[in-house]
Amino acid sequence: VSTGGLLVYAESNVESGKQVVEKNQPESKKKRVVVLGTGWGGTSFLKDLDISSYDVQVVSPRNYFAFTPLLPSVTCGTVEARSIVEPVRNIIKKRSGEIQFWEAECLKIDPENREVFCRSGIRDNLAGHNDFSLQYDYLVIAVGAQANTFNTPGVMEHCHFLKEVEDAQRIRRTVIDCFEKAVIPGLSEEERRTNLHFVIVGGGPTGVEFAAELHDFVHEDLVKIYPSVKDFVKVTVIQSGDHILNTFDERISSFAEQKFQRDGIEVLTGCRVISVSDHFINVKVKSTGEHVEVPYGMVVWSTGIGTRPFVKDFMRQVGQENRRTLVTDEWLRVKGCGNVYAIGDCASVDQRKVMEDISSIFKAADKDDSGTLSIEEFRDVVEDIIIRYPQVDLYLKNKHLLEVKDLFRDSEGNVRKEVDIEDFKLALSQVDSQMKSLPATAQVAAQQGAYLARCLNRWDQCKSNPEGPRRFKSSGRHEFLPFGYRHLGQFAPLGGDQAAAELPGDWVSMGHSTQWLWYSVYASKQVSWRTRYLVVGDWVRRYIFGRDSSR
Ligand code: FAD
Ligand code: MG
Ligand code: MG
Ligand code: MG
Ligand code: MG
Repeated sequence: VSTGGLLVYAESNVESGKQVVEKNQPESKKKRVVVLGTGWGGTSFLKDLDISSYDVQVVSPRNYFAFTPLLPSVTCGTVEARSIVEPVRNIIKKRSGEIQFWEAECLKIDPENREVFCRSGIRDNLAGHNDFSLQYDYLVIAVGAQANTFNTPGVMEHCHFLKEVEDAQRIRRTVIDCFEKAVIPGLSEEERRTNLHFVIVGGGPTGVEFAAELHDFVHEDLVKIYPSVKDFVKVTVIQSGDHILNTFDERISSFAEQKFQRDGIEVLTGCRVISVSDHFINVKVKSTGEHVEVPYGMVVWSTGIGTRPFVKDFMRQVGQENRRTLVTDEWLRVKGCGNVYAIGDCASVDQRKVMEDISSIFKAADKDDSGTLSIEEFRDVVEDIIIRYPQVDLYLKNKHLLEVKDLFRDSEGNVRKEVDIEDFKLALSQVDSQMKSLPATAQVAAQQGAYLARCLNRWDQCKSNPEGPRRFKSSGRHEFLPFGYRHLGQFAPLGGDQAAAELPGDWVSMGHSTQWLWYSVYASKQVSWRTRYLVVGDWVRRYIFGRDSSR
């Protein structure tokens, strides 16, 4: 370690990931990068990667990128499926054709031999499929996650998921089917009610948004064309926690609950689904332990995400069998395995705890080796600490501490001039409680993809010191910073042209104006002018003509 930088100190015990420079490879030969997945993480990586210095191959079972935040709108035809997908080959074409794309699914990764095994044509069960393998120097795993049933019996067989474009299209057809079935002559009222009972399991952002979309679809469009059954329609959200949208600010979560109550969307909180059969959902009410059978016409299961089987397999190979998701360090390198990176929903970043590194932080900050730290010495390194340990910044903000020196007050509230290691530990002891794992969102995946592309683009400059500190004033080198997430806020569309938003700086906004903000943000986030035109066109069409209700 050349400089006594904090970032380096803390990193010295990370086992994996250091770039192995292959000696016998000719200098001119480009390094091969294989990217698995063309979702948020994969495409954002491809958009920013400098392809003149790499040989890039992309593998994904879908030859398009899907703008997932608009999937709930696809379920009811507010926007069309074609409007939210962009062909991968269009994205690649813009990069002057040096990226190769293979429509195939990765089945296995062999980290020893740096090889991935793929198969084309299994998604659609095409008669003949082709197996092939690809060699890589760097592998980027960006395969996302799959729906999680928590092994609940019957879910796979009877429920819809809302993860892929195909899922959204299937839901749209099923909603219409339920209405068509409910108007058939000769049915009892009970049967009509059952057919028109739409149940959503999971009160997270996806479940809530879908419930709101469906409610609008039913009340703005379908009741007009199926007037005879309009009083039999019911939408229910089943949530195991006490509130829906519980990752949002409380104000938003109660606004959503009140809006749903006014709209007649039933919210069953504190209820767990035990099993699903072809006509009933078996629900356990947590408070009483009582079991209830709920008849349904359609169920959408939206309770969270799980790891794909081949990623599980890979985790076993690299010694991560006890982890829930694939774990990387803050440079997004898969732990326990060199030259493999993972981004987005398939991975989680293991953040370092301040308390684990406290002695080395102290030593590095104590420039004069006096055994105590003056406030000046601490102030000199605090920027580095905040980059390396973002929880310190959060702690300062949450405690409303304007200055770092406020960390070092004694019992009478006076700022100390010097602290020893014990005081230092005490001052920072609560800091790690601010650590939060990154959410599984498009925002995180896209930022990680862009970050990783930046790292690879600067690989040559950084090779000598891949994880050095940036701000060490003495060193003018280019170095890698650990990945830092910037939260830009989140939206929850609630139907009836109302939305709620949580923006940085504890800012919450709700209502019709927020829906307009939502429209403009999502229009601007579109990946191409083509999809932007299509999406905005769909919104206008819906406004004028309503949604299309043909199957
Ligand atoms: P994905 O985008 O899921 O991409 C995974 C890619 O890997 C896909 O191209 C897939 O085809 C491919 N793949 C799968 N298996 C293999 C394999 N074996 N080999 C090779 N490739 C494979 N996030 C937000 O920030 N805001 C929102 O409003 C929002 N709304 C959402 C609404 C819905 C309905 C859903 C489902 C998600 C929403 N999200 C939202 C979450 C967001 O979509 C995910 O966090 C994001 O897609 C994660 O990106 P990713 O690249 O990790 O995975
Ligand atoms: Mg991806
Ligand atoms: Mg995607
Ligand atoms: Mg993740
Ligand atoms: Mg000192």
